[in-house]
Amino acid sequence: MEKILCYSCNKSKNKLNVRKSSLLPINLFLCQTCIDQKLEPRWVVLISGRQNGHEHVKEFVQKKRYIGVEITAAELLV
Ligand SMILES: [Zn+2]
Repeated sequence: MEKILCYSCNKSKNKLNVRKSSLLPINLFLCQTCIDQKLEPRWVVLISGRQNGHEHVKEFVQKKRYIGVEITAAELLV
């Protein structure tokens, strides 16, 4: 069976859950660890920040509720 990677941590898990993103109107495959930590994929935070403004993703950026390199203010501006 094809292994799906968690959209957030990019790890291959035996079980992934489909979760509605709290930032974008899309569904995400997330592992339980990421769900428990209320993480969103880094790219979702970026896209949402660009579409809706940095205020919209402020909490995610400040509390670093994503995995990966730090999101800078410049990245949220296009
Ligand atoms: Zn994960």
